[in-house]
Amino acid sequence: MSDATEGDALVGASLPRPTKWEMWLQVAEVVAKRSTCLRNQVGAVITDWSLLQVLGLGYNGNARGLPNTCDHPEAPGMCGCLHAELNALLKAPGIGGGGRKILFSTHGPCLTCTKAILNSQIQLVIYRAAYRETIGVRTLLEQGIRVVHSRAFNTFDEITWGGTPSGYGLLSKPLL
Ligand SMILES: [Zn+2]
Ligand SMILES: [Zn+2]
Repeated sequence: MSDATEGDALVGASLPRPTKWEMWLQVAEVVAKRSTCLRNQVGAVITDWSLLQVLGLGYNGNARGLPNTCDHPEAPGMCGCLHAELNALLKAPGIGGGGRKILFSTHGPCLTCTKAILNSQIQLVIYRAAYRETIGVRTLLEQGIRVVHSRAFNTFDEITWGGTPSGYGLLSKPLL
């Protein structure tokens, strides 16, 4: 029967297996879909250092009780939505205590979220899409927080700040 043949074909098929890093980034991408922001949908996940425990989740949007949309959808960076990273930090119980934490985000952090990250126990930030401003990533690096850019499935590059042919900028090298 063709039905049985097609079912059998799925058994043992070699689907690409995501690393745990990839898994949490994809969770952040699913969380981002909850966002009602008209400018961008961003999701963030905070885990412990072992990548086993989720400590907080967040997506960007207006504050609880306020209209479920942007205040100023036309204003880049100032639409009035709380950012995903900040919401994840607010919802992570005991974020200030315990060991090191990891933040996974669909996008690189803005400067305000970077400052919130610096005031937390997060020591590693992993993001998928670059944010239009690099000041957040640069500030994290200057403060000793490791930053990893994942441009594609199961691909992770560690970011450094240094000299490029055109001056100074963000550099990256494969981590895994
Ligand atoms: Zn918004
Ligand atoms: Zn932000």
